[in-house]
Amino acid sequence: MERNHCIAEAESRLLHTYNRFPVVFERGDGVYLYDTEGKAYLDFAAGIAVCALGYGNRAYQAALKRQTELLMHTSNLYYNRPTVDAAQKVLAASEMDRIFFTNSGTEAIEGAVKAAKKYACTRDDHAGHEIIAMNHSFHGRSIGALSVTGNDHYREPFEPLMPGVHFADFNDLESVCSLVTDRTCAVIMETVQGEGGIYPADPEFLKGVRALCDEKDILLILDEIQCGMGRTGEMFAWQNYGVKPDIMACAKALGCGVPVGAFLMTGRAAASSLAPGDHGTTYGGNPFAGAAVSAVFDEFERLHVPEHVKAVAPYLEAQLDALVAEFDCLTQRRGMGLMQGVVCTIPVGQVCAEALKNGLIVITAGADVIRFVPPLVITEADVDKMIIILKKTLNTLVKSVINR
Ligand SMILES: *Cc1c(COP(=O)(O)O)cnc(C)c1O
Repeated sequence: MERNHCIAEAESRLLHTYNRFPVVFERGDGVYLYDTEGKAYLDFAAGIAVCALGYGNRAYQAALKRQTELLMHTSNLYYNRPTVDAAQKVLAASEMDRIFFTNSGTEAIEGAVKAAKKYACTRDDHAGHEIIAMNHSFHGRSIGALSVTGNDHYREPFEPLMPGVHFADFNDLESVCSLVTDRTCAVIMETVQGEGGIYPADPEFLKGVRALCDEKDILLILDEIQCGMGRTGEMFAWQNYGVKPDIMACAKALGCGVPVGAFLMTGRAAASSLAPGDHGTTYGGNPFAGAAVSAVFDEFERLHVPEHVKAVAPYLEAQLDALVAEFDCLTQRRGMGLMQGVVCTIPVGQVCAEALKNGLIVITAGADVIRFVPPLVITEADVDKMIIILKKTLNTLVKSVINR
């Protein structure tokens, strides 16, 4: 299908829930995407922090090909090997004891919330528990996940949402403490806030919330959907803090493009939580998804992905810091590992659109942040190329602002 025809068909047939950039991508190779005209784009977004291995990873492709020929799906009424392999690998990397595979991040959050409610229901012998979530958080678009998402713009058309959710300020321990009641069953937060504008948790805050949860038998749910899977230099972001959650949610890079998520629990939390009949999914953890997760973990190990992130991230940070120093329109950098944000006073949508024209993919976070969540296999040379294109982009935009 010809490019303009494809775009026109998409605009007339797909539900209009996105304002898309006018690009039709056709294939990927390494850290580059190629559109239907053959133009190359350096990818510093990775399909929103999904394609951690970049594009065209041979071992990953071969594992998927093999599994499509063997078996795609069986339902959860039976056992299958790939998903057990995947479970072993995710649990070993996450120091957790039990896992439930889902098809998306949103569903992982749904499961995590249900698990926390069930834990408290078992303990107290009654339902009606409350959850503390964070302002400026993002946990997904289903009614349950939206109910713990601290963004009025996303929530308001769909209210009333799930009751019993109270919002605290991220990195403000007092505000969390003030919302605790004897009905609180969980505190949920992203270890590094993503969509909200790339805000890492302060170590003191996370440790304080952990201590509070321990004291009151409240479960700590960490959403590692975006910041997990090696992105911060540890396999999961909380491992940088030494603060272990009771429940954690994972997705995005978990399947590197195959739609799969998971929520994981410690043995203690799982022992008095979801039981047979309490939760289920038709697709979740099917053999194909299991093979993908398993292959992703094998490649992470072979390529030493978290170690690579630790090695290359300081270079990205230094180059972004230099850029912030050079351009008046850039005011701050923040982030962890290969999850970085730069605050920008030029409309960030314009920056992304102009960068795209120049062959660089970056995305926004919050209202005024340029987000960098590249494949985890980027090199310093890729960072240099990104900086050159971003400089050119900003120079064009700054000039057009002055000339207006
Ligand atoms: C993307 C994201 C989600 C939602 O995941 P989906 O796969 O889009 O449902 C939830 N939490 C965080 C932190 C995310 O970045």
